[in-house]
Amino acid sequence: MVQLNYSGNKKHIFNAVAKANQILQNPAFYSEIGKFPPFHFSSLTPIEITKLMENSEWRITVRGAFKPIANASTSTHDLIKVSTINFSRDLATGVNTLIHETVHAIDLENGTLEFTHDGNSPDGQENTAPWRIGELAERIASGEPVLG
Ligand SMILES: [Zn+2]
Repeated sequence: MVQLNYSGNKKHIFNAVAKANQILQNPAFYSEIGKFPPFHFSSLTPIEITKLMENSEWRITVRGAFKPIANASTSTHDLIKVSTINFSRDLATGVNTLIHETVHAIDLENGTLEFTHDGNSPDGQENTAPWRIGELAERIASGEPVLG
C-alpha cells in the first residue's frame, strides 16, 4: 500500500500524516471506496483505483512549502507539497487534504491522468476520485461511521 513520509517539524502535519498512513493501511478504507458509484473525470472504476492504491508500494514524501493560496499540491508522483500557512490544524481536514493529494500522486505514478478533477474549485466536482476519497478519509479520521 502507498504510504506517506514526513520528516519536518510541524506537529499538525506530522499528526495528519500519521493518521493518513493508518487509513491507507486499513482494508475497510479500500472496500468503502470500491462501493462508490463511478467517478466523474475518470476512466477507471472505483475498484480499479483501489487496486492501484493497495498495490502501490510507493513512498510519497510530504514536505512543507511556502504556498500562500493552496492547501497543498502534487505535480509529481513522489512529492506532496503542503502549505505551511494553510494546511489545516484540524486533524480530519488535514487527512482529507493528504489523501486527496495521494490520489493525485497515484494517478501521476501511472502516467496519464485518469482520475482527476477539473479545476481547483470543489463546486460541481464532488463526484471525482480525489474529492470523494479525501472526504471518506476525513470521515474515518473524525470517527464517523462510514458504512454506505
Ligand atoms: Zn485536487
